Amino acid sequence: MHVIVIGAGVTGTSCAHRLLENGHQVTLIESASSPNQGCSFGMAGFMGPLSASMLCSPFKGNAGLASIFAKTRRLGWDVSIGHMKFLRALANARSADKWQADRKALVELARYSVALTEFTARMENIGFEQNYGLLKIYTNEQEWETAHKEQAVPVAGEWLSAEETIRLDPSLENVPKPFLGSLYMPQELTGNGSFFSKQLQIQNVADKKLTMMYHTTVKSLIKETDTIVGVQTDKGPIKADVVVLSNNLGAKSLLEGHLNIPSQMLTGWTITAKVDPVNVPVKYALSFENKDIEVTKLGNRLRVCGRYWLGELTHDMTDKIIEEMYESVCKLLPMSAAWPESTNWMGQTLVHPDSLPSCGATNIKGLYLNIGHGLNGWALSEGCASLLLCLIEGKEPEIDPNPYSPMRFSK
Ligand SMILES: Cc1cc2nc3c(=O)[nH]c(=O)nc-3n(C[C@H](O)[C@H](O)[C@H](O)COP(=O)(O)OP(=O)(O)OC[C@H]3O[C@@H](n4cnc5c(N)ncnc54)[C@H](O)[C@@H]3O)c2cc1C
Repeated sequence: MHVIVIGAGVTGTSCAHRLLENGHQVTLIESASSPNQGCSFGMAGFMGPLSASMLCSPFKGNAGLASIFAKTRRLGWDVSIGHMKFLRALANARSADKWQADRKALVELARYSVALTEFTARMENIGFEQNYGLLKIYTNEQEWETAHKEQAVPVAGEWLSAEETIRLDPSLENVPKPFLGSLYMPQELTGNGSFFSKQLQIQNVADKKLTMMYHTTVKSLIKETDTIVGVQTDKGPIKADVVVLSNNLGAKSLLEGHLNIPSQMLTGWTITAKVDPVNVPVKYALSFENKDIEVTKLGNRLRVCGRYWLGELTHDMTDKIIEEMYESVCKLLPMSAAWPESTNWMGQTLVHPDSLPSCGATNIKGLYLNIGHGLNGWALSEGCASLLLCLIEGKEPEIDPNPYSPMRFSK
């Protein structure tokens, strides 16, 4: 089969790799000059599976639009009229039963995906600065107690006191009081997703005979009667048996007039700083539950994220958010990296209200989606690639594909 994959970020590269491995002819089309120049460039590197991110926490009681306006500091949103429909869908996705079902589906896909990533890394001899272990740090009495009482997901972890936590990771010595303790999750995986994907792409081109088209933008999908038969690019048309959209935000305009899927742009920011010999190195990935700060260790660098914005950005939001994140991490981990020389990055990703990706066939023959991964694009990339391969070949996938079907919204 000849398959066109649009977008050479982490999701498109994994998808192309899996298709090539199974003997398909693949053309990967990317408008930039190299892979991972979009949202995959500076992301944090969480793989999970349990740290896979939902847009919101469940709402207890009657979920409704009003519940959405109880903003957390971690996630903010624009409340323009055009955005209301999405916010309503988001409010519905917060009802306890729906949230639990979506959460279960997300963790199942992340778990499957992490296993496949580790397998691919071994088979292809790829190192990606992987690091095991996540510490969820609690500095708020109420959250600490609630977390102990009711865990939203079954957690393979261990509760530690503040002293035990510092013994495990001495970089946390300066965390201001009250430092109540942590949840230590030793199996959680983090790493450099962009680096993993770049190495996969080198193998795609060198060993797997990928047809790679950089500097090429897909302008529209070519439809004949009820089937997608190829794409129109700025360099001319290309025909194929199957087209997979793995192009994140770029999918929205290509789907116009074909398919209407509720999705929004989610913006996030990261700060990256080098760890010098004088620093007290961080040992595990860290999530400061009450401070909107998450930290990953990527080789000899630390990467910080934790603030997100749903919908259109307002002017100078970036400067303000970066400054807040910077001040926060300097207070929490003052000795752990060369913070004054850090660099900033902003990324944008497409997200659906239920926080699950759209991965699978559409109601248009020949058209498959691999979009809407939200904050879990790398974490889910290998799992989605495997699901897509099975669905394209008409085989039964190893996990239930229904929760991720792009057609779930039309039910
Ligand atoms: C601050 C932040 C932190 C994050 N942290 C994590 C994390 O820790 N773990 C995790 O799993 N995920 C994380 N994410 C999410 C993750 O970055 C994304 O889900 C993921 O990068 C999406 O990958 P992608 O390949 O689908 O998209 P992209 O990397 O955006 O790639 C899409 C590509 O398609 C190309 N393209 C678009 N339209 C066209 C067109 N018409 N023709 C040709 N090419 C086109 C673009 O140029 C781009 O290269 C984070 C996101 C942000 C913003």
